[in-house]
Amino acid sequence: MTSVTDAPDIVLAGAGIMSATFATIMKELQPDLRIAIFESLDDSAEESSNAWNNAGTGHAALCELNYTIEQGDGSVDISRALKVNTEFDLSRQFWAYLVRKGAIGSPGSFINPVAHVSFVRGASNVAFLRRRFEAMHAHHCFREMEYAQDKDRLMEWMPLVVEGRDPAEDVAATRDLTGTDVDFGALTRALLANLARQPGFSISYRHRVADLRRASDGRWDVRVTDIATGERKKVSAGFVFLGAGGGALPLLQKSGIAEGKGFAGFPVSGLWLRCDDPALAARHAAKVYGKASVGAPPMSVPHLDSRVVDGNRSLLFGPYAGFSTKFLKHGSVTDFFGAMRPDNFGPMLAVGRDNFDLTRYLVGEVLKSSDKRFDALREFFPNARPSDWRLEVAGQRVQVIMPDPSRTGKLQFGTEVVTAGDGSLAAVLGASPGASTSVAIMLGIIEKAFRTEVPVWTAKIAEMIPSYGRSIADDAGLCHDVRSETAAALNIVGPL
Ligand SMILES: Cc1cc2nc3c(=O)[nH]c(=O)nc-3n(C[C@H](O)[C@H](O)[C@H](O)COP(=O)(O)OP(=O)(O)OC[C@H]3O[C@@H](n4cnc5c(N)ncnc54)[C@H](O)[C@@H]3O)c2cc1C
Repeated sequence: MTSVTDAPDIVLAGAGIMSATFATIMKELQPDLRIAIFESLDDSAEESSNAWNNAGTGHAALCELNYTIEQGDGSVDISRALKVNTEFDLSRQFWAYLVRKGAIGSPGSFINPVAHVSFVRGASNVAFLRRRFEAMHAHHCFREMEYAQDKDRLMEWMPLVVEGRDPAEDVAATRDLTGTDVDFGALTRALLANLARQPGFSISYRHRVADLRRASDGRWDVRVTDIATGERKKVSAGFVFLGAGGGALPLLQKSGIAEGKGFAGFPVSGLWLRCDDPALAARHAAKVYGKASVGAPPMSVPHLDSRVVDGNRSLLFGPYAGFSTKFLKHGSVTDFFGAMRPDNFGPMLAVGRDNFDLTRYLVGEVLKSSDKRFDALREFFPNARPSDWRLEVAGQRVQVIMPDPSRTGKLQFGTEVVTAGDGSLAAVLGASPGASTSVAIMLGIIEKAFRTEVPVWTAKIAEMIPSYGRSIADDAGLCHDVRSETAAALNIVGPL
């Protein structure tokens, strides 16, 4: 009998959270599908999905100030926050389904309740946060959010942030106890272990997807290199999923699909400060997000986080952004230059021209001394001691530069999906809110690429994701039911 690796229906490049999520959903929808993953490293989730390579925030727009937009008249537009908030509900429902089914073990191994806090300083920021809170709290999706300026209350919420601070300083915060910390590395491994127990699934480590070509029968010839032996082989697949993180853009370019033309990538590296002192970690049970500085990309908003990894609590602060020409942590310094094409040169130049603040910010971050880095931490945690903290290198982010007919290039900070017009290939580019909204991203791909199958699969999708086809943002009752049920299954805090 032919092995799955030799004749799969679907080939996936990369073994991070995106491929693991896509393969899991597809196997649930059609168990007889033959699915093969090729991963160039020795193990899964060693790039962005690894616990220490990302912040592990279950992004639900409960604390990230950049998901709301302050309008000229002072009002606050919460529409993007609502989108991210309810997309996270889709992930929660899918994970709850897998936990109930016994497919991915104990929820505490990958998701834990951690309060999400937005924290601001200075009178005008305090006034903004109050207006923002009023706009959000009025919506049923943000009904659990609380607001405080009172120092005693803030002390209760986040003692490390309040202690040692000038009592005269204007500060305020919002808190949402339904927030989470997610170990996307552990989740990826659990999803892949569940797949490995099923027939018709294979995963080949130390195998790089080197190239892909359209065959005359409309299928894809995927060229794979065995890194250990140097052996090359051709695998034919009906559908290709490029879940290669920073490696997805070069593969998209190699596919030659028209929909991928003009895309480019802007790599941003990152550093964290990490503290594993159990006594300090026990005193900070929150993810405290601040405001971005001028020119800072939204993903560089500083935050002081409680993390739960392998059952241990730690503190994480950052990220400090930087510039590296690598597209992956284990990538090559030539990645950025190798992805330059005649069709993306214009968009890249336009982005360079229009984002001078960003360039200045990144240069400033790269040149920052360790003392300056520590000063940034002390803005959140005034009594922090350098001896308790060490540097941790974060994952690489490749921000997407999109072709934009009006301006010839646009820097995109979110996640971008490119799907071939005939539905035979999909690529996931970009970063935040990324992993948290992976289920919403995969459902979008499936609806586009498997249009004819979706009517047959709808009942199964609704079994996995009960709110499928309905709007949690528009239906307060549905929102309450879904959140109560997923909170119970995942052992996290639900609505009151
Ligand atoms: C600093 C930072 C902080 C973040 N914080 C958060 C957060 O708090 N919350 C959140 O939800 N998201 C966060 N994200 C985003 C999140 O980490 C990503 O959206 C997510 O991990 C992307 O998953 P992926 O599977 O696409 O990529 P990855 O996890 O990077 O996996 C891609 C895999 O593909 C492999 N690969 C690459 N090229 C090839 C090839 N040619 N052949 C075979 N294999 C290949 C790589 O080795 C890797 O294993 C953060 C990201 C970063 C960098």
